[in-house]
Amino acid sequence: AKKLGRNAFQFYAPAMNEAAQERMRIESALRNALEREEFVLHYQPQLDLKSGQIVGMEALLRWQHPELGTVAPSRFIALAEETGLIVPIGAWAMRTACAQNRAWQDAGLGPLRIAVNLSARQFGEADLVSAIAAVLADTGLAPSCLELELTESLFMNDINLAVSQLHAMKALGVQLSIDDFGTGYSSFSYLRRFPIDVLKIDRTFVNDIANDADDAAIVASIITLAHNLKLRVIAEGVETEAQLDYLRRHGCDEMQGYYFSRPLPPDQFEQMLRQGLRL
Ligand code: C2E
Ligand code: CA
Ligand code: CA
Ligand code: CA
Repeated sequence: AKKLGRNAFQFYAPAMNEAAQERMRIESALRNALEREEFVLHYQPQLDLKSGQIVGMEALLRWQHPELGTVAPSRFIALAEETGLIVPIGAWAMRTACAQNRAWQDAGLGPLRIAVNLSARQFGEADLVSAIAAVLADTGLAPSCLELELTESLFMNDINLAVSQLHAMKALGVQLSIDDFGTGYSSFSYLRRFPIDVLKIDRTFVNDIANDADDAAIVASIITLAHNLKLRVIAEGVETEAQLDYLRRHGCDEMQGYYFSRPLPPDQFEQMLRQGLRL
């Protein structure tokens, strides 16, 4: 085993201090970022495996900080959740994504589905459902063109509140999807209780399907489970032809991943739509 001597503390203390300082810097910058319009959304296509066509896209947040450059969500989402800033940031993302989808539809590129990530924190807000309804009304986007991605962490809070919020969302006509499926806990109980339309297979399972018999079996089982429950299933993080082949052979409905495209800024995504690129 590794022995930590006296020097370990001296070694780690400055590093922790630096991390704490970066955290504070990011937190105060986050507070101003919305006003300064430093957030943008990138869009990653989702493709139907039968037709090979783009049927939707996931909106992914990017922060263009004047000094730090483009900050990835892994560096600020957790902090935004802790501080509650994810609530206004998430509301901005939902509105922007829906408006963008509607604009592409009006330009004759579509209809497509737009998937937006919802933080568990947003579920604590009593007016979440009416806020979604307002965005749909204001942008004129058909509710069926909006898909909300939820993670299993949502179900660890107030489960009854979550259930009633989800039913209210379904009543609006939007689609609900479970993100990172298989990485959380209690997957089976909420599949029974919640009005869900889509499972997204986490990319940690997809990663190894061509080489690892266990991962391959898990992915095949999730696809079967989803179809038996009449759910659509999307594989995320697809990077290779071998992974794609496996998913096709096992009847997965849709895929998303670098194999086809990384998340793109709006102008590049639009170009891809205009070119009619397909799998
Ligand atoms: P996620 O929702 O699971 O999003 C998928 C992540 O996988 C994205 O990372 C995407 O760029 C990445 N990805 C897509 N295809 C591939 C692939 O083939 N290989 C690999 N290695 N990665 C791939 P990204 O954009 O850095 O986002 C990270 C996470 O940040 C998201 O994970 C989501 O949890 C969170 N996030 C992003 N935007 C939002 C947002 O608007 N609201 C909330 N609440 N969370 C967001
Ligand atoms: Ca997601
Ligand atoms: Ca995911
Ligand atoms: Ca494995």
